Amino acid sequence: MINFNVPPFTGKEIEYIREAVEAQKICGDGQFTARCNRWLEERTGTKRALLTTSCTHATEMAALLVKVKPGDEVIMPSYTFVSTADAFVLRGAVPVFVDIRPDTMNLDEKKIEAAITERTAGIVPVHYAGVACEMDTIMELAAKHGLWVIEDAAQGIMSTYKGKALGTFGEFGCFSFHETKNYSMGEGGALLIREEKDIEEAEILREKGTNRSKFHRGQIDKYTWVNQGSSYLPSDMNAAYLWAQLEMAEEINSARLSLWNNYYERLLPLKEAGYLELPVIPESCVHNAHMFYLKVKDIEERTALIEKLKEKGIMAVFHYIPLHSAPAGLKFGRFHGEDVYTTRESERLLRLPMYYGLKGEQVEEICDAVKEFFERRS
Ligand SMILES: *Cc1c(COP(=O)(O)O)cnc(C)c1O
Repeated sequence: MINFNVPPFTGKEIEYIREAVEAQKICGDGQFTARCNRWLEERTGTKRALLTTSCTHATEMAALLVKVKPGDEVIMPSYTFVSTADAFVLRGAVPVFVDIRPDTMNLDEKKIEAAITERTAGIVPVHYAGVACEMDTIMELAAKHGLWVIEDAAQGIMSTYKGKALGTFGEFGCFSFHETKNYSMGEGGALLIREEKDIEEAEILREKGTNRSKFHRGQIDKYTWVNQGSSYLPSDMNAAYLWAQLEMAEEINSARLSLWNNYYERLLPLKEAGYLELPVIPESCVHNAHMFYLKVKDIEERTALIEKLKEKGIMAVFHYIPLHSAPAGLKFGRFHGEDVYTTRESERLLRLPMYYGLKGEQVEEICDAVKEFFERRS
């Protein structure tokens, strides 16, 4: 059997968790959290990175930090995970869904401006599959209309746009370290902060509204309640699990890219014969092989292919019922303009197994099964 996902594991995780336990420091902001934060800052070039309990929570923090208000409109794609919208809906804001581009499945930057009203507060680009949105255009639009940008870079760690790390363009960027992501701590995430001026408020918000971070750095003798806050910091045991992978981030990234390229080359003849479509990586983007997907003719063909692969013990999945057609999406948000691609493309997309540790032979086996499916059908 070939699973769809296996959580990343390098072999050092248990040792590092033991180290955290033996240091008798298992709450938040211990040595492993500090190492992960520093690594993220060095790797991405952001001013400050803070590990959080999830990407959902990092996005909630960002929503609080930009002071989103009830009735504010927030532009985002409908083809995304629920958390992109939830973080803003929790604060009473209205998600305004804009259509995606069929090539990258990302927010169509050409359709954003028409969706801007006097209530629009910000834009939330989602870098689907770790492939960047057209950030030059999005940042120009934001500057022109005085909007903030929060990047949902849950899938985008190690990816770049024109050489710059995803998550570092907007005021805030959000990473995920859920077990389905390239690097994991079970549940977890990170908030990337672009501006020096936002760092202190973010640290306070993450630490129950206290200035405990300053206390940790020895900048004050006693910590106290100074602002609104919550608890967004993960246990150092979780950070220890993550550190084992960040330490080997390059190896993991190149192993994933080689699997991705292997898929691409093996499926290319089927694309050339017109049976399916493969992911498009624009020239300005370096991706991280977060996922390998293909697109078939329609939903019926996709269901048949999933079934066929399952018979052979291969677990392939689809995802994202567009948010605007989900019950909560109908209640809290609205779609701006015409849904040309969101629904249609989401129904054709199928994700193939992709994880650190998947073998080249397994990729061959999966591609052979896909080929056989199309040969039988034609
Ligand atoms: C995984 C994911 C999230 C949520 O991440 P968590 O860490 O599980 O909260 C949000 N947005 C996108 C696009 C994701 O893929």
